[in-house]
Amino acid sequence: MDINLVKGVGSKAFEYLSKLDLYKVEDLILYYPYRYNFIKVIPLTEALEDETVTIKGIVDTEPRVSYINKSLNKMTFRINSGGYLVNVTIFNRNFYKNNLKLGRLINLIGKYDRQKNTFTASDIKFEIIRNFKIEPVYHLVKGLTSKGLSKLIDECFNMPIDIDDFIPHYLVDKYEFMNKLQAAYNLHFPEDISTLKKARLRAIYEELFIFMFKMNYLKHKYDLNNQGLNRQVEKSKVDDFISSLPFTLTPDQLTAVSDIYNDLLSPKRMNRLILGDVGSGKTCVASIGMYINYLSGYQSSLMAPTEILARQHYASITDTFKNTNIKVGLLVGSMKKSEKNKVYQELAEGNIDILIGTHALISDGVKFNNLGLVITDEQHRFGVNQRSNLQNKGLMSDVLYLSATPIPRTYALTIYGDMDTSIIKTKPNGRKEIITKVVKEKDLKEVLYHMLEEIKQGHQIYVVAPLIEDENGESNLNDVVKLKEKFNIAFNNSIRVEILHGKMKNADKDAIMEDYKNGKIKVLISTTVIEVGVDVKNSTMMVIFNAERFGLSTLHQLRGRVGRNSVQSYCYLISNMDVPRLKVMEESNDGFYISEKDFELRGEGDLFGTKQSGDMVFKLADIRRDYKILLQCKKDANEFITNNLVDNFNLYPEFRKIIKELEFID
Ligand code: ADP
Ligand code: MG
Repeated sequence: MDINLVKGVGSKAFEYLSKLDLYKVEDLILYYPYRYNFIKVIPLTEALEDETVTIKGIVDTEPRVSYINKSLNKMTFRINSGGYLVNVTIFNRNFYKNNLKLGRLINLIGKYDRQKNTFTASDIKFEIIRNFKIEPVYHLVKGLTSKGLSKLIDECFNMPIDIDDFIPHYLVDKYEFMNKLQAAYNLHFPEDISTLKKARLRAIYEELFIFMFKMNYLKHKYDLNNQGLNRQVEKSKVDDFISSLPFTLTPDQLTAVSDIYNDLLSPKRMNRLILGDVGSGKTCVASIGMYINYLSGYQSSLMAPTEILARQHYASITDTFKNTNIKVGLLVGSMKKSEKNKVYQELAEGNIDILIGTHALISDGVKFNNLGLVITDEQHRFGVNQRSNLQNKGLMSDVLYLSATPIPRTYALTIYGDMDTSIIKTKPNGRKEIITKVVKEKDLKEVLYHMLEEIKQGHQIYVVAPLIEDENGESNLNDVVKLKEKFNIAFNNSIRVEILHGKMKNADKDAIMEDYKNGKIKVLISTTVIEVGVDVKNSTMMVIFNAERFGLSTLHQLRGRVGRNSVQSYCYLISNMDVPRLKVMEESNDGFYISEKDFELRGEGDLFGTKQSGDMVFKLADIRRDYKILLQCKKDANEFITNNLVDNFNLYPEFRKIIKELEFID
């Protein structure tokens, strides 16, 4: 049901909700809080020094507001809290002044300084909390408050709701789960902690069950009919090609290549994952796979998660095959219709041997002549849906995934474990560890000098900031646009510094990337768009501003952009905060070690305080904290698939929807 039909949703609210991608009543119902505040009101006498507490009191004096500067105002008044008169100070809440009528009972959240008899409040609550309250906290957009959103969600529960339950009924019975709407209601409006826990458990189980279903469905389906393609390839031809590469393969790469060769030539369909850190040489192995596939007479496709990465692969793979007759094509969303049509035609006629692209590869126009090998470069995204669509374009195609997934191996193998796996542990020879250092902003000079030094040696530098542009100057974060100005001043405009970010036109992005690749640009400032896969070997330094804003896996991916040849590379993490995470980056270059640490540092987390800082995009689930549930879901999902595959999930129409998505059937 359309969200416009909900009481209270006018054009303003509609605008906010659409910014959150919420268009239907059902979307709103499933828009769960990411965290809860547990508010317990205590008597002032029990307030401990330095601890945030909630107290209640009666407004005893008119509030007075003083303006300290343009962006800071201070309001003071007195309350009577259970007979004690206490001075209250609160900053930047002058808009509450008119609500603070003499004699009004309010709740205050903040800290009490007993000696000064002053309560420094961080917020005031006007609806009275008697003693205990669980308050949901939502991701919001400017203009929309948690309370406003709660009210709309409450209204939604009065509407007819059409919501799918993705836990098969027999499992709901087995685990005695509450029903889905009941759980949703409790997640938004928790009665008490134990009900909230039950509701969360149900939602987490469902999320992980769907995830494991998607991860395993195709494997089961193909096992029913796992007839592979018939191939004949002379091993010596493959060896010749490997010898023609400008470097020798590492032992792990050689093993992976031989795994792929055997898979491709066996009568069984290949379903293999190459797991290895960024820069370990997975793409190179994949290229050899495509070569074997080409020799046996079939087309290959390689799908990448972003356009920049797809173009990068296109350039490097074209180069890899420059001395062969292999024709490599590119298909990305931003290409002109006429260019796309040309690719479609050449592909259908079999003139393109290898097609590289983004998810544009799964669009309807794409018809291969004889697709034999489907490769998905996931980097660290779980693109469960898109990958399989592509598989369907070649009914008996062999399948290869590349993953630099930033989770510890055990977890990766649980998730991907039903595939055959080749692990690349070692990096190509001659690679040096990237020297990493955390630096405070006040010591930036040191970094600037080092940057100049690198540039003098002909090297290039990436700079990353968390924001594109801080238009209102509201945050204290560095942004790409301002950094460019700063660097230009620091370097006296003598060095070419450019910016790259997602809001730029594609043509402009390409031009910048091109100039960076050929060394015309010395310093490239960007947001995390360069995180995935960009490969410019001459880059020897990565400088990340407000490093505390990024999770370990992102930092590791970013750092992986340098250190791509035998020259010493450096990474500076600029941060004014002492975040333990950043120390881990100084300690190690090993992605699996870093991911272990990441999981450790994020900790079990109290069940309710966990904020997702990694890249695993679940609403509520956290694969470390919920690992046992994940294992159970894997088992349950496999059983469920096995029992229902043959009659095509006829009893479970909601799962047919997922399958449709997976298989891209219209
Ligand atoms: P990944 O896909 O795992 O990130 P790539 O295959 O892109 O890694 O390899 C990273 C870089 O290292 C590329 O520039 C590639 O040409 C180069 N490379 C790959 N294998 C080797 C090797 N055995 N020796 C030297 N350089 C290599
Ligand atoms: Mg085979």
